[in-house]
Amino acid sequence: MAKATTLEVPVRGMDCAECTLHVQEAIRKLPGVASVDVFLAAEKAVVNLDPERVDISHIRKAVADAGYRVPEVGQKPVIIDPAKGFTRQVLVLFGVVFAAVLFIVVAGEWFGLFESITRRVPLPVGIAIVLVAGYPVFKNVVRAAMRRQVIAHTLMSVGVLAALAIGEWATAAVVVFFMRVGDYAESFTTERARKAVKDLTALTPQTARLERDGVEVETPLEEVRPGETVVIRPGEKIPVDGEVISGQAAIDQAAITGEALPVDAGPGSRVYAATMVKLGSLRVRATHIGPDSTFGRVIRMVEQAEANRADVQRTADKFSAYYLPVVAAIALLTFILRRDPLSTAAVLVVACSCSFALATPIAMLASIGAGARRGLLIKGGKYLESLAVADIMLIDKTGTLTLGRPELTDIICADGPSSEEAVLGMAASAERYSEHPMAEAVRRSARERGIETGQPRDFENIPGMGVRAWVNGNQVTVGNRRMALEGLAPVPNSLEKAADVLESQGKTVLYVMAGSQITGLLAAADTLRPEVPEAITALYDLGIRQVELLTGDNEQTARTLVERLRQESGTEAAPRLSYRANVLPENKIEIVREYQRKGHTVVMVGDGINDAPALAAADVGIAMGAAGADVAIEAAHIALMREDWRLVPGVIRIARKTMRVVRFNIAFTTLYNVVGLSLAALGFLPPIFAAAAQSFPDIGILINSSRLLRQKET
Ligand code: ADP
Ligand code: MG
Repeated sequence: MAKATTLEVPVRGMDCAECTLHVQEAIRKLPGVASVDVFLAAEKAVVNLDPERVDISHIRKAVADAGYRVPEVGQKPVIIDPAKGFTRQVLVLFGVVFAAVLFIVVAGEWFGLFESITRRVPLPVGIAIVLVAGYPVFKNVVRAAMRRQVIAHTLMSVGVLAALAIGEWATAAVVVFFMRVGDYAESFTTERARKAVKDLTALTPQTARLERDGVEVETPLEEVRPGETVVIRPGEKIPVDGEVISGQAAIDQAAITGEALPVDAGPGSRVYAATMVKLGSLRVRATHIGPDSTFGRVIRMVEQAEANRADVQRTADKFSAYYLPVVAAIALLTFILRRDPLSTAAVLVVACSCSFALATPIAMLASIGAGARRGLLIKGGKYLESLAVADIMLIDKTGTLTLGRPELTDIICADGPSSEEAVLGMAASAERYSEHPMAEAVRRSARERGIETGQPRDFENIPGMGVRAWVNGNQVTVGNRRMALEGLAPVPNSLEKAADVLESQGKTVLYVMAGSQITGLLAAADTLRPEVPEAITALYDLGIRQVELLTGDNEQTARTLVERLRQESGTEAAPRLSYRANVLPENKIEIVREYQRKGHTVVMVGDGINDAPALAAADVGIAMGAAGADVAIEAAHIALMREDWRLVPGVIRIARKTMRVVRFNIAFTTLYNVVGLSLAALGFLPPIFAAAAQSFPDIGILINSSRLLRQKET
């Protein structure tokens, strides 16, 4: 079999949660399709297929047969302007119309208005009215029936037929009216959820002003290539990710990081698509464009977040599948036991499984969309669900708990001929190609002291320990104590003592060796992020029972740091703080699994450097300061685009709140349906009221979930 490829196909016409299942089913049945995910909010299908056996035309046809549409390529998705207050106005309008109609129906029923109308209009005319008004609904039902599918409206249509059969055409007309209202409510709800994603898309400019041969040309984004020069003026959005060539500017990065304070950019700075130049102008060399940009990736992940369904949603989906047969059975029983066609029709009409299917995703999408606009990239409802019940948090030290910008503080030479300059120079040369923050500290210090560094050969990086390379005929090793011991270097007593002292000050000690001879020690201090203690106190209040620091650094340094954290985070949280030192990167994943085996739900917070596998293995992996850090965005389940520890308790609060909304949605829908079905079956609910009643849960879910769009937690 040929290599499978992934195809993204836009799909139009899906306005209910049920629709995605139909589209999914239609595409999956095609020969050559390995797997398919359909996204309601992003209006697309992601298909894994064998390109030799199936292509876009097959998919287009399959989707069309199912009653939906794959637009031709080049047809751009409509981007709606995120107009403020839109939802509220529509909801109010909707409510007014709904109330008015409800009133007319109630009054009509009460005063016998309907009966008088029914009597005057001949039955065939009435039937025609019902059929015409309900045509869009019936068409779908018939189409589904031909594929042997029962959709939510199938039962209601049977109810309408039943009403027509007993000559109650006015009732049937009202039912049809409310079916359409219900459809509208659902598509409006779906559209609202979609808006969260579309708002994001609307944040990126679609054109760039390029400098080509000294002339500025406005160019569509798709035609911009990496390496080209983009010019951005004050007040404009940056269209691409890139590096500043010239100019100075204050940039509002809120679109990516959620941070309102502008940051300064000058030659050499990295800038991101969708951020805005507030003051100054820039010339930028484009590096990543459109979907490849940081923001492009964020959008894509938000769009595809639907694939990571929460368990509650799986359960609800399963439940909806059983729901229709159960309703049909209740209707049948009602008919057999009570011999009352009106009650039977009411049962068929009141039941709407859509709200079960909507209860979870609407809330999740609201939170995910709102989060994305505040610098929180949440890759799926699943992670919010886990986060809400998490009890263990593991934290990577360097770069996560600390700023990850250690400063070299001490240089200590071994007895003998070596000088500070020689030790530092040797170390800086060996570290030349390492990306570790420690290596950077060493290089920076050497640069500041004006020390020349040489070209290393046979550079070797040993994760979690250090580096080794040949420099000027010496095999130089720079690393932690473990690395020194591995190199069989005997640590002289005087150095041993010095290392102890430095470590008790919370510094990280690096051993510099030439061959198996220790030539000196380097010590570096990293700064604890100032907002960490406060965040840890908040985490404790949120029910995280243990916070454990994982570090490849030594025991002493880790203990000093934790002691300090204990003091600053308060007596309540202090006993819950622990640490493990000398942890190799590959052991971090083991520690995650160990906790999971004991039944804990584990959150791992890291920066994606050396800890990506552990982030992925945790129930929820959170990456800090992920803007621009590709590994972190890919590996984590939740990426915090801003380096701010307050976001960690913040996102847990969002998760809790989201789950509360989801539970409420589900409870509300369940109760509503149980009560509705009972009343209908017992004959207390005339079909007209039943029809009006069935569109309420959708609206309830929408209103309840829209609370999540206004997050104050971060
Ligand atoms: P952490 O878990 O704190 O993020 P790492 O696992 O990346 O730390 O590294 C653990 C230790 O290994 C560091 O504290 C440092 O002492 C040593 N080390 C790792 N890489 C290097 C390097 N390139 N140069 C010097 N020392 C290093
Ligand atoms: Mg690290």
